[in-house]
Amino acid sequence: MADRIYYPKSALAEAAHCKSMEQYKQMHEKSIKNPEEFWGEIAKQFYWETPTSDNKFFSYNFNLNEGDIFIKWMEGASTNISFNLLDKNVKCGNGDKIAFYWEGNDPDDYSRLTYRKLLEETCKFANVLKSKGVEKGDRVAIYMPMILELPIAMLACTRIGAVHSVVFAGYSSDSLAERMLDSKAKVLITTDGVWRGPKLLLLKTICDEAMAKVKVNNHEVESCIVVSHLRRLANPHGGGSTATDGGNIKNGINSNGNGANEPNIPWDDDRDCWWHEEMEDAEPSCYPVWISAEDPLFILYTSGSTGKPKGVLHTTAGYLIYAATTFKYVFDYKPNDVFWCTADIGWITGHTYVVYGPLANCATSVLFEGTPFHPQNDRYWSVIDKYKVSQFYTAPTAIRSLMKFGDSLVKKYDLTTLRVLGSVGEPINSEAWLWFYNLVGHGKCSIADTFWQTETGGHVITPLPGATPMKPGSATFPFFGVLPELLDEDGKIIEGEGEGYLVFRQPWPGMMRTLYANHERFQTTYFDRFHGYYCTGDGARRDADGYLWITGRIDDMLNVSGHLMSTAEVESVLTEHPAVAEAAVVSKPHPVKGQCLYCFITPNEGRKFEKQLEDELKKKVREKIGPFAQPDVIHHAPGLPKTRSGKIMRRILRKIAIGDRNVGDTSTLADDSIVDTLFQLRPQV
Ligand code: ATP
Ligand code: MG
Repeated sequence: MADRIYYPKSALAEAAHCKSMEQYKQMHEKSIKNPEEFWGEIAKQFYWETPTSDNKFFSYNFNLNEGDIFIKWMEGASTNISFNLLDKNVKCGNGDKIAFYWEGNDPDDYSRLTYRKLLEETCKFANVLKSKGVEKGDRVAIYMPMILELPIAMLACTRIGAVHSVVFAGYSSDSLAERMLDSKAKVLITTDGVWRGPKLLLLKTICDEAMAKVKVNNHEVESCIVVSHLRRLANPHGGGSTATDGGNIKNGINSNGNGANEPNIPWDDDRDCWWHEEMEDAEPSCYPVWISAEDPLFILYTSGSTGKPKGVLHTTAGYLIYAATTFKYVFDYKPNDVFWCTADIGWITGHTYVVYGPLANCATSVLFEGTPFHPQNDRYWSVIDKYKVSQFYTAPTAIRSLMKFGDSLVKKYDLTTLRVLGSVGEPINSEAWLWFYNLVGHGKCSIADTFWQTETGGHVITPLPGATPMKPGSATFPFFGVLPELLDEDGKIIEGEGEGYLVFRQPWPGMMRTLYANHERFQTTYFDRFHGYYCTGDGARRDADGYLWITGRIDDMLNVSGHLMSTAEVESVLTEHPAVAEAAVVSKPHPVKGQCLYCFITPNEGRKFEKQLEDELKKKVREKIGPFAQPDVIHHAPGLPKTRSGKIMRRILRKIAIGDRNVGDTSTLADDSIVDTLFQLRPQV
């Protein structure tokens, strides 16, 4: 099944923006050979206050031997992103169209926001920011849950040219402080708190700790603006603002069984203010500040899977056209669709495919505050049914954890409105792909396995739903403007079939421009390993049909008795076993083989971890990959150490494998207690 090719269904293909591989190839070729013309056409969909100077549409240097690295698109042009996303859509008669359906943590809490209202709220909040002294180029930190005020705050920044730095509101005060210090944030926007599943998080308290830590390090956050989210949940007709065009918010603190009283919110009168109080008298219009094409748009820190997070900087014009174009083609978005990306806005996926891409296409999307497991493990399916979602974009980690609960939860709901399914964040194993395809997509949806990074701004390797025949687990082919190569250790290009370092030869509009205030680290991290190329840090394999398969981080490659293997390959085989929910494989030094395979296994709900399972798994890997790949150790893992965006941190697993307690930076870990548990469960070998 996994080796089969899955063709896009003809009804989907015929109506798609890109209908065939021939069309894809033509468009891709044009985007590479004549980027000025290709992207210039697309740029015409947007409003430019001043046009780009003709000879300056695109310039770059990718080669450190020829000087500093730079990437510039549409130099000389000026625009405003919020104007393109909001004013333009309202002027075209889409003022009453829903921009966001908001679905709260509690299924009884929901609301919605039209384009007109979103524009008005954005302008009002831009005026609030101005009143706090925020000017073009200032950094604004945002530490908020998935509520409507979050995109409003981001768009308000873009209205006046301020640079937002969204920090996922699950990070600790240390992580928040580190990011605010690095970006020298002037203002912080947050909420009093949020319910995540059954858990209450007091965000303002965390912010106060973070702001104190920033102060000790000689920087001061001047203002902190707080949405009274908990208060309005508890008391919808009394306290707090509601940026909404109707809906229902009735359940808050009370319904979650936490008593009627609001928790104590720490407060500093000189620094803190309530969002709704500031908004009361704010003017509902705000003339956009015209921003140069290469002016900064936002800073976003990477997930920290491989080390200290990097402050990726994206700029205005290129990011806008790339977010818009990938959204349109990769999800095949049409005006009446309802799009849902489950990623938190605190990750790049949320930036590009909850906020910028959808709004640039005047799309309607779902903004979901909750988790897949609350109040029941069927929440995702119930939300798809409720809003008649047509495109559903999520992560392999979520798919795998939902598979554990069996098929019946999915079958309870009507998911027939779905047309395109998307996956992002990690390689998707074929088992999960097939489950997603057959059960969630009823065997009729296309799956877009989108490979990309915080750094790439948008999808770079991905199928197009109406055009690309799919192979489960392959991210397939490059998006427009992207020219991938596979390189060997010595930097030689691997032609045809083979496996190597995944690099890109030339920039596409949405790629990062630098690491904030650290151009040196930018150059050494991405451009020093192979001169003349952007190095992703990931490995990939090209098969006989030219399909690209992402094999995982280069650091995670395994070399057993001279055989090079990727973790993804072995993990995919392990998860095919019906008793296995999740698997993570790392290498462990071995006196004879050089390295050996050390596998962490999470059994499915209700399945026991026992000797027989160990033996079956070893046999399976031996049969499927080869005798040299037989795992030396199978380690019972009730859970795995993951980043807060759900990625397995293999560098920690490598430490556990060798029994080294010195595990390094764990600040981006979702739950660090799992590390101790795994040390305790270490088999004696
Ligand atoms: P850090 O750079 O700090 O270590 P990170 O790389 O996990 O963190 P992100 O930018 O969020 O931070 O993730 C990008 C990485 O996610 C890619 O480099 C790749 O390893 C992985 N990835 C994303 N999508 C896919 C996919 N479809 N298939 C395989 N891997 C993917
Ligand atoms: Mg990375």
